Amino acid sequence: MRKQEVSALIIGRFQPFHNGHLEVIRTIAGQCDRLIVGIGSAQLSHTFDNPFTAGERHLMISRALHDDGLDDFFLVPMVDVNRYSVWVAHVQSLVPPFQDVYTNNPLTRRLFEEAGYAVRSAPLFNRDVYSGTEIRRRIVSGKEWEHLVPEGVSETIYEVHGDQRLRDITKDHSYEVTI
Ligand code: ATP
Ligand code: MG
Repeated sequence: MRKQEVSALIIGRFQPFHNGHLEVIRTIAGQCDRLIVGIGSAQLSHTFDNPFTAGERHLMISRALHDDGLDDFFLVPMVDVNRYSVWVAHVQSLVPPFQDVYTNNPLTRRLFEEAGYAVRSAPLFNRDVYSGTEIRRRIVSGKEWEHLVPEGVSETIYEVHGDQRLRDITKDHSYEVTI
């Protein structure tokens, strides 16, 4: 018989995965046997809020975690169901069994608590710059952003020309990046 293992779940859109996400995952990894990372809004890509496909995000996260010495993790793309009452069941249907959920989102906390899970909050690291929105704004406006993400992430973004994509899709929508 295998020993009882504790799996912990964290869900984000990871547009892109950044150093704040990596910090929080390092903390969580120290508190569980196996990490499950849900890649949320997996159906979305090619917009300012969600520029990268689920596959591109899968690649950037797996590179970043392997480079950080983490090997025991599942990365699971999750499309939105747009119906909160069935969200937890949807997640359960996609991932291996898990016991703990880490989130800072009050709605996610409520939904998982209602389903009987132990929900923990994750500390925020350097939130002023370790933020997907901030990184996307920097890419669009040509400011430095590479130091805010793990190397495997910037590599992936350049490989898929994600920086050019972001600039292209926001060309006629400068208001989106100045708010
Ligand atoms: P966006 O600005 O696009 O919303 P984000 O940086 O908030 O991007 P998400 O993918 O929305 O990233 O967040 C996924 C999870 O990561 C959330 O639970 C969020 O609280 C957490 N998180 C985001 N930024 C940080 C950070 N700097 N430190 C720790 N956790 C973070
Ligand atoms: Mg967010």
